[in-house]
Amino acid sequence: GGRVDWGRVRADFPLLMRQVHGKPLVYLDNANTSQKPLPVIAAQDEFYRRYNANVSRAVHALGTEATDAYEAARAKLAGFLNVRADELVLCSGTTFAINLVAYSWALPRLKEGDTILVSRMEHHANIVPWQLVAQRTGARIRVAELLPDGSLDLEGLYRAMTGEVKLLAVAHVSNVLGTVNPVREICREARRRGIVTVVDGSQAAPHMRLDVAAIGCDFYAITGHKMCGPTGTGALWARREHLEAMPPFIGGGEMIKEVSFEGTVFNDPPHKFEAGTPNIAGFVGLGAAVDYLQRLGMDNVAAREAGLLAHATEALQAVPGLRILGTAPGKAAVISFLVEGAHAHDMATLLDLEGVAVRSGQHCAHPLLQYFGVAATLRASLAFYNTHEEIDRFVEALLKVRRLLC
Ligand code: PMP
Repeated sequence: GGRVDWGRVRADFPLLMRQVHGKPLVYLDNANTSQKPLPVIAAQDEFYRRYNANVSRAVHALGTEATDAYEAARAKLAGFLNVRADELVLCSGTTFAINLVAYSWALPRLKEGDTILVSRMEHHANIVPWQLVAQRTGARIRVAELLPDGSLDLEGLYRAMTGEVKLLAVAHVSNVLGTVNPVREICREARRRGIVTVVDGSQAAPHMRLDVAAIGCDFYAITGHKMCGPTGTGALWARREHLEAMPPFIGGGEMIKEVSFEGTVFNDPPHKFEAGTPNIAGFVGLGAAVDYLQRLGMDNVAAREAGLLAHATEALQAVPGLRILGTAPGKAAVISFLVEGAHAHDMATLLDLEGVAVRSGQHCAHPLLQYFGVAATLRASLAFYNTHEEIDRFVEALLKVRRLLC
């Protein structure tokens, strides 16, 4: 990211200027949720100050402005993902997006004897909906296993793609390990065997240039709050043929053409999946977040984060007894680690007193931690607005905390 002035970029994030427990904040919990730049905060503020109204209902000026802004956000997000806007369902986040696939695509189709293939590195949001579908349909879950470096065992994955497998659920990027899965190759292999693919892009969208059309998946889910957007925003991209064929699983206003007690005519996709008043202000903010990231350039963001990751990985060598889980080549800037003799939660609590925010625990990925045989990890997840100096402060704090605990 040579052409970007990252110091100025950082100044766009007011929250990063605050102190915690009297210490300057070092925010390294970006995989959990990212911070928001001023243009995102301003866009939402402007919406409520100037054109707050409901979408798709009113013919008055404010209604039109609100609807235009909501649809503009859809178009921006579609551009960001390189997909068609009319194939993008706006929703509250990845959790909703995957549940939409589970309830509207999988539930009516799967039956006893079918198999859902799920990778071991999935977030619970890409496991539990499939378990619910399996319980209701009699389909089985099969697990695609990992290799010790935290990458997917691709040979095993392809062997597991047998005739009974109807659906594959896989993360683009692991929220715990940072592993970037070769989703293009995986989806090609799945498609060849007639397996429908659901890719969880929650941790990919904030960190790399995406070309969802080129991935060749059937469904791609993202969440807005991890990519500098407001909470309660996200999207599901799906091939048009799936959207046409899927029944809605949430009914209400906004998603219909005609309602009578004899029967209801649904609106066209994507609107038929967007029942009720959406998070309009949130999507106005997400549109601003997309503009912001596009201005930075996602290749610059990726390069910046690769530099930060290399620095952090190197600096952490100074901590005795530290072990990093997930060392797959080309991984994203997420570092899960353990320090021998210290509990993850104790360390995170003491790090907080030093102003350092990291996550500790199981990161909504119990099966993944079971594979590594650990009860909890610490996770430092970086964003482009973090600095090399912050990483040094984090490592210093870690050394101090380790002396207290070990
Ligand atoms: N999948 C992955 C890989 C995630 O990291 C997260 C958020 N931690 C989710 C799904 C769930 O996203 P949300 O809670 O925004 O729906």
